[in-house]
Amino acid sequence: MEFFDWFFAAVVERAPHSLQIETVRYLTGTILVFLLVWVIFERPLKNRKIRKATPRAKQIRREVSFSALSVFIFMLMGVFVYEGAAGGWFRFYSDVGDYGWSYLAFSIVALAVFHDAYFYWTHRLMHHPKLFRFFHATHHRSHNPTPFTAYSFDPSEAAVNYMFIPVFAIFVPLHDIATITYMWLMIVRNAAGHSGYELMPKGWTRNPLLDFFTTITHHDMHHEKMTGNYSLYFTWWDRLMGTEHATYLERFDKAVGATLATAEPSNGIPPVASPASLSRQ
Ligand SMILES: [Zn+2]
Ligand SMILES: [Zn+2]
Repeated sequence: MEFFDWFFAAVVERAPHSLQIETVRYLTGTILVFLLVWVIFERPLKNRKIRKATPRAKQIRREVSFSALSVFIFMLMGVFVYEGAAGGWFRFYSDVGDYGWSYLAFSIVALAVFHDAYFYWTHRLMHHPKLFRFFHATHHRSHNPTPFTAYSFDPSEAAVNYMFIPVFAIFVPLHDIATITYMWLMIVRNAAGHSGYELMPKGWTRNPLLDFFTTITHHDMHHEKMTGNYSLYFTWWDRLMGTEHATYLERFDKAVGATLATAEPSNGIPPVASPASLSRQ
């Protein structure tokens, strides 16, 4: 009973601020990408559309509804994080002088690298037939995603996704600027990743210095095929575990209008996944 009293009081105190932050971030990130990609640059990007079909308004309404639920879950979990931070459970800090600017920049890169690993493995786990419908089915109702798919999760998946940063901050010092910058980069990249338009330049997957960053086609294929291409930012884990779609590089070339004659990967990394291995995911 004491716990509920404490939690209720904490929610009442934190909810308005927390809801505001989460809502503003979701709406700004998704609407910004929607306006840029689907409205303002729709014509010049016409040939970059990954699939012919355009999702219906009904799908976007459903995605925004589930995203509102995700924001609510983030708010509830945020209560524990705010209270935990006040209690010294996490290594969040606010004085740049504690570790310096180089460390602050490094911590943003570290967040991306570890988050990518966390996302790959939790995502693969959520594709397990016994877990899929409890965690991940809602996200995959968007067979052809839109920027608003970004937070369209089951509440359980929203909780799993939310947990990465607080767990990371138990072990690694994170400045407020690093956390906030990363959260904003994350929503914009997430919305862009679901935009349905290939936004990376032609030749991206042929450049060994860029090829390890995932493209929009990478995650779009995951929604289309419901399997494979599980990674978030980097292609490492899919390649290491043999879960990258065999036709990924070819599909990227098609999306950016590169000729099929040059579609052979030049980075020395073969398309590793076979349809048989993917069907087991
Ligand atoms: Zn998935
Ligand atoms: Zn997705």
